[in-house]
Amino acid sequence: MSGDEVHITPGMQRYIDKNNAYLAKRDKYIREVVKQWKFDTIAVHGLYNVEDAIEDYQGAIIEPIFMSSSQAYRDSDEMAAALAYLIPTWCYSRIANPSTYYYEWTLALLEGYGFDGETGCCSTSSGMAAIMTSVQPFLIHRSHNKHEPRNFLATAQCYGGTFQQFSIRLMEERDIECRWIQDPTNIDEWASKIDKNTRFLYGELPSNPAQGFFDIKAVADLAHSHNLPLICDSTVASPALLRPVCHGADIVVQSATKSLTTSGFGVAGALIARKNLVTSIENNHLKADFAAYVKYLPNRDTGPNLHPMQAIMTLNDMRTLRSKMDLMSRNTMKVAEWMQTHPAVESVQYLGLPDHPLHELASKYMWLVDAEHDELYGKPVNRYGHLMSFCVKGGAESARKFFDGLQRIWRATDLGRIKSVATIPAISTHQQQGEAGRELAGIPPNMVRLCVGAEHADDVIGDLDQALNKVSSKIAAPATTAS
Ligand SMILES: *Cc1c(COP(=O)(O)O)cnc(C)c1O
Repeated sequence: MSGDEVHITPGMQRYIDKNNAYLAKRDKYIREVVKQWKFDTIAVHGLYNVEDAIEDYQGAIIEPIFMSSSQAYRDSDEMAAALAYLIPTWCYSRIANPSTYYYEWTLALLEGYGFDGETGCCSTSSGMAAIMTSVQPFLIHRSHNKHEPRNFLATAQCYGGTFQQFSIRLMEERDIECRWIQDPTNIDEWASKIDKNTRFLYGELPSNPAQGFFDIKAVADLAHSHNLPLICDSTVASPALLRPVCHGADIVVQSATKSLTTSGFGVAGALIARKNLVTSIENNHLKADFAAYVKYLPNRDTGPNLHPMQAIMTLNDMRTLRSKMDLMSRNTMKVAEWMQTHPAVESVQYLGLPDHPLHELASKYMWLVDAEHDELYGKPVNRYGHLMSFCVKGGAESARKFFDGLQRIWRATDLGRIKSVATIPAISTHQQQGEAGRELAGIPPNMVRLCVGAEHADDVIGDLDQALNKVSSKIAAPATTAS
């Protein structure tokens, strides 16, 4: 892995044998025990079990937070084996850490839930770091030709930070062309933009805030037919509602800051990759286990690592992900349906509404995981998440008046919170990309993005109603259903 030939001493070999036995036991545990569990059980326990706790962590029932910069070794043999990556090790917290280890395994298993292959995860300090970490290895110069043109495809409807990373950091600064896909539901548009210099296909779904969507399987098949990987950002859905790897995606990026850390305690990220992914890059290690590759090599050298404290905070939130995504989705549906009836509202965008142009496509992919095993439902049920948006009648000025009138809903550029949060994308998350960029991403100036939390839906509606009525007094008589 390090590239150099490593001379293995008999002492090192003893450590390697011992650790191979440990890894075989762990693989068996994952295969025979953990992978047999339902989603909720994996979310609650991950790989942390009684045996780990008693043997290594003094019986602590919660995964410990290892705020230690580095790991000590018994002797030079163990150190040599560890630093040649011949045995599992965490050596230095920039590279790995026992707390991030449990976070990574839980996410790898949740994103890979229902997938019949294996997945790996690499934690990152943020969602933006996860995106950078997933795209960079595909953008290297393949032929030592420093003038070789490189391009990739990406959905134009994407998070504002992603737009900046691709258009400024990659296109402007490094001359790597990002070919924006305007209508990702049109497979011909994707196909027509691929050429021999294309390195990967990237798509955000549902996109933030415009709720763009595409047919994952069709785009993955297209990518693979050109020997290219598909990278998906499914932050908005979270693995409780959508697992792109199950539909052919090679890598998933998560801004774990959002749905996964519902409480709002900080910023975190992750990439989850399937083993043996598809790529035209000639690198066997990268292909076989992309997550481990980036973790132990590129990220070792660039340092976008997750803090162990944050890893456990996020892990703790993830334990109840499924039930929270269900509740917040149901609340959002109720709010969206109510919004449609308000005279001050020009339009409502929510994938769950039957009149949304992408409703049918989203319904193919967005399901509450394990609803068929839930005694409340007993059958598959669609859930569309906590993100919706709407346009206020009367343009940007009315939108701001409504926004300023909100009392309980927080004005913040945040998403996936247990507390309802609203923002005006044109003046916040999507301010930097200018009018042209916003038009490309489909973001009008009077659009309000609303992420419905876990309050009672009637109270969320009550706040929206009083704020809308401040605007609509000029437009029409308000329809007051709640206060
Ligand atoms: C917030 C967000 C990101 C960036 O994540 P950070 O954790 O803020 O770095 C990426 N993608 C989507 C869809 C997001 O909402």
